[in-house]
Amino acid sequence: MRPPKFPVLDDHFHLDPRGKKWKAVNEFKRSGGTHIILVSKPYFPYPYRTIEDYRRIYETTLRLARESEEKTGVKVFVALGPHPADMTENVKRGMELENVKELMKQAIDLAAKYVEEGRAIAIGEVGRPHYEVPKRIWKASNEVMEYSFQVAKELGCAVILHTESANPGTFKEIASRAEKIGIKKEKVVKHFSGPLILERENFGLVPSVISMDNLLKAAIAKGNRFMMETDYIDDPKRPGAVLGPKTVPRKTYKMLESELFTEDDVWRIHCDLPRKVYGIEVEIRWK
Ligand SMILES: [Zn+2]
Repeated sequence: MRPPKFPVLDDHFHLDPRGKKWKAVNEFKRSGGTHIILVSKPYFPYPYRTIEDYRRIYETTLRLARESEEKTGVKVFVALGPHPADMTENVKRGMELENVKELMKQAIDLAAKYVEEGRAIAIGEVGRPHYEVPKRIWKASNEVMEYSFQVAKELGCAVILHTESANPGTFKEIASRAEKIGIKKEKVVKHFSGPLILERENFGLVPSVISMDNLLKAAIAKGNRFMMETDYIDDPKRPGAVLGPKTVPRKTYKMLESELFTEDDVWRIHCDLPRKVYGIEVEIRWK
């Protein structure tokens, strides 16, 4: 294999201790991928009762990242946070909403510690459930999301948001919460975004676009201020539930070959914007 000409970064990727793990990252690499934002997920059965449950999740993410880097040479950056689903899942199992909310805030504090130590680069994915929930859960979720903005603002790091499927109205509402707290909107990434590329569609938040042909084509027709992701989940029970690990590099090269992306677009999407958002270096190291 020849080293790639430019970086290719998947902005939202998961690995699972029961899944393909580093082998999925190797597939990504063999298709031309060079960098991954690896996001923690609820690997273990609910309920989560203490902060130690979150420490175990975060350490698992870090271990999966380290193993992948060692075996493949792909640069893996880590994002850590309490998943928005944790709220409903824990309440469903009889925990008090107030306690769940406080624990999720503690989990954000713990994620911040890892960022401070340089072991993670962002807080996420946090936010609110993508499904209908009772009002009090919605309210508590927003409170946790705003807390993540507060902590990230103090640290100067990014937040990766998981929310209901977003239209410009959703972006506007979240952007106003970001403004209220005072976090820079270029530090707030909306994971699983559609092609909402224009300022009047995303209100300054950063769209991480799901890498499907139609969405990428619609996105690039409007501009190149976006990142690309798969939301690969590495779940052996749900193969093909989402886009596979090769998708971002494959689609990037395909878009380039069909002249829908210029080389400048590729650099903007995979290097300049991630560097600005996360404060990371996106260099090609190859082994
Ligand atoms: Zn995710």
